[in-house]
Amino acid sequence: MDNSARWPSEFQEAVAKDGWLGIMMPSQYGGSELGLAEATVMMQTIAESGGGYTASSCVHMNIFGLAPVVKYGNEEQRRRFLVPLIEGKERACFAVTEPNTGLDTLKLQSLATRQGDHYVLSGSKIWTSTAQVAEKILILVRTTPLDQVKKPSEGLTLFYTDLDRTQVSVTEIKKMGRAAVDTNSLYFDNWRVPASDRIGAEGQGFKMILHGMNAERILLSGEAVGIGYAALRHASNYARSRVVFGRPIGQNQGVAHPLAKAWCQLESTRLMIMQAAKMWDEGFETGEYANAVKYLAGENAFTACETAVCSMGGMGYAKDYHVERFLREVIIPRLAPVSREMCLNYISEKVLELPRSY
Ligand SMILES: Cc1cc2nc3c(=O)[nH]c(=O)nc-3n(C[C@H](O)[C@H](O)[C@H](O)COP(=O)(O)OP(=O)(O)OC[C@H]3O[C@@H](n4cnc5c(N)ncnc54)[C@H](O)[C@@H]3O)c2cc1C
Repeated sequence: MDNSARWPSEFQEAVAKDGWLGIMMPSQYGGSELGLAEATVMMQTIAESGGGYTASSCVHMNIFGLAPVVKYGNEEQRRRFLVPLIEGKERACFAVTEPNTGLDTLKLQSLATRQGDHYVLSGSKIWTSTAQVAEKILILVRTTPLDQVKKPSEGLTLFYTDLDRTQVSVTEIKKMGRAAVDTNSLYFDNWRVPASDRIGAEGQGFKMILHGMNAERILLSGEAVGIGYAALRHASNYARSRVVFGRPIGQNQGVAHPLAKAWCQLESTRLMIMQAAKMWDEGFETGEYANAVKYLAGENAFTACETAVCSMGGMGYAKDYHVERFLREVIIPRLAPVSREMCLNYISEKVLELPRSY
């Protein structure tokens, strides 16, 4: 899939057919009503199978993304939106990031103006993953301009609506890894969205997005750790069988110890991820843990993949041996959905009470 940049439709359909997409969704809409902890185990397993982010990203958004609809949507919306998502008939993408504002989410510039029973949206988004295939979009835009709100976190509104390609231009961004799962720039001008697709109250969208954001950080950390384990598995298999200077290369501690160290780092991260997921499930505030595990997972999974490539010599660089694909994909959790610098900014400010840097 990575070589041909083809959407993994067979995998995504199989996951939907067996009911896994509803793992975190309420049972009255067809879900299994399990928690983020179970969903994280599932997503780690998908990535660890060798599918990496290519496999996990094609279902990722559908697992956690509609948490704001579950929590803040009305009954009609929950039925209309959750049932087709769980059945795999509709796929969702998630549009927060904008080209001119980046991580400074509160400065979003895309604007929605109310006109009768519709809103009219104009603006742009960037890095919207899966928008080439998604039928639906969860989108955060301003309904009150920044200079007219008391707090910058107010005046942002969330919509879950049809991704109408006659109204929204979707252009794929060519990227380093995960070629099969697209990421895009979006542009829209006078895009009419029904007011009945607004989630929760006007102006309260940021709070709703935050609820899902911590869940995403935890889930994506599980996927990162899964990729790290997959890389270690490939490298260990190779190091057991590749014989040079009359012995398996894995018998040399120069090869074995970096792999063992990477396993220790991954396993400690995994345990902390499970703690974070359980805290989220039990309704505790998870900002500290979500950011800490997102940071650790990004760094430790990267180290595991880099170690795997280097342990395998030339074959680490050959596509047939997979670890180079893991290394390209595992840069993603260092950058997105929030960068490692912003995770550390959060810990510096909220845990260590150091002055805010931005
Ligand atoms: C593969 C991929 C898929 C994505 N999918 C989606 C998606 O589906 N939906 C979506 O909305 N977004 C998506 N994103 C966007 C992603 O969330 C953003 O790229 C990310 O939030 C960083 O924003 P930016 O690229 O604009 O970085 P910028 O805001 O331009 O920042 C650039 C760099 O400067 C650093 N920096 C900035 N300010 C500070 C500071 N005060 N202190 C320290 N460092 C700082 C950042 O950490 C970062 O490394 C995706 C990104 C990628 C790469």
